[in-house]
This record gives sequence, C-alpha cells and structure tokens, in this order.
Amino acid sequence: MCQHQTPCPSSEAVDREAARILATFPEQGWSLLCNGVIVFEDTGEILPDGTMIEPHRGPARHALAA
Ligand SMILES: [Zn+2]
Repeated sequence: MCQHQTPCPSSEAVDREAARILATFPEQGWSLLCNGVIVFEDTGEILPDGTMIEPHRGPARHALAA
C-alpha cells in the first residue's frame, strides 16, 4: 500500500504510527496512514485487517498542565 521511496513501517510493525499520513479528518478525529492503518486522536488504531488497538498514550503534557 505504501509507495514511498523509503518504505514506511508496515501495519504489522511496532512503529506503524511512523508511517506518513495520507488523509486526515480532524472533524471526525482520525487519520489514514499510508500503510493502511487508521489512527484516532486518542491513539487508538484500526489495522487494515480490522484489528482494534486500544488507546495507548495518556493525555498530552500540555493537557495535563491545564
Ligand atoms: Zn509510506
């Protein structure tokens, strides 16, 4: 799926979120990466095979400071 010259991490890779964003839908809170992974604002993910990944990061530091 990824067509970058230096291929991005695959959807199976642990660093899958390092792939580039193909499309982002801020009003819906998600982005599509070039490896087919959908990443939500809360860091939850859906893999191309339909696997759901729970959010795995806490709030941003600036959010905690507020
Ligand atoms: Zn790519």
